Amino acid sequence: MIERLRDQGILDEEVLAAIAAVPRHVFVEEALASRAYEDTALPLGFSQTISQPYVVARMIEALRTGRSDLGKTLEIGAGCGYQAAVLAQLTDAVYAVERIEPLLAKAKVNLRTIRQLKVRLKHADGHFGLPEAAPFDTIIVAAAATRVPTALLQQLAANGRLILPLGTARQQLVLIERRAEGFVETRLDAVRFVPLLSGVE
Ligand code: SAH
Repeated sequence: MIERLRDQGILDEEVLAAIAAVPRHVFVEEALASRAYEDTALPLGFSQTISQPYVVARMIEALRTGRSDLGKTLEIGAGCGYQAAVLAQLTDAVYAVERIEPLLAKAKVNLRTIRQLKVRLKHADGHFGLPEAAPFDTIIVAAAATRVPTALLQQLAANGRLILPLGTARQQLVLIERRAEGFVETRLDAVRFVPLLSGVE
């Protein structure tokens, strides 16, 4: 899988090492475990999917470009915890929120299984960020929003970066950096994510 990611243009060796260090089969349903190392999104239950490794790598690489450390990081849409586990390889402070309680419970079990205890998980609607732990140097959103949630911009530290898929049928990754002069936006790849929904269940 790592060679394939390299062929697809992922150049950040630390990101590749972080992905190599996380056993993805732990995070997918048993019936799909044989496909865990294919570079595809796979179903998680509750109409959600575990993210495609290439997209995880691409987003984290974009967040790290020109910075040595992700710093305090917030993930919106933890799902089964896969991306949170990858992030935890790269930075010490990882917070992750998920709106579907049974998925959050799965994430807890999965992260415990791989002995990754530093991810702090919370059952909440990520539209509001995580005010009690803000500000964040990095915010990564794993579900597509139609517009950038204001709370996430507010909870970004100085020089902090936010990456999220924006759009409905056609989505694009957008990287937003908080600079002294304001928010600077860069548009990246076309992507396909499940939608960012409101409320918790
Ligand atoms: N990060 C996961 C991807 C999960 S898919 C991985 O590593 O595989 C996206 C997740 O976002 C789903 O679990 C979905 O329930 C969650 N989600 C959608 N809207 C949300 C919201 N408003 N707040 C928190 N989580 C949300």
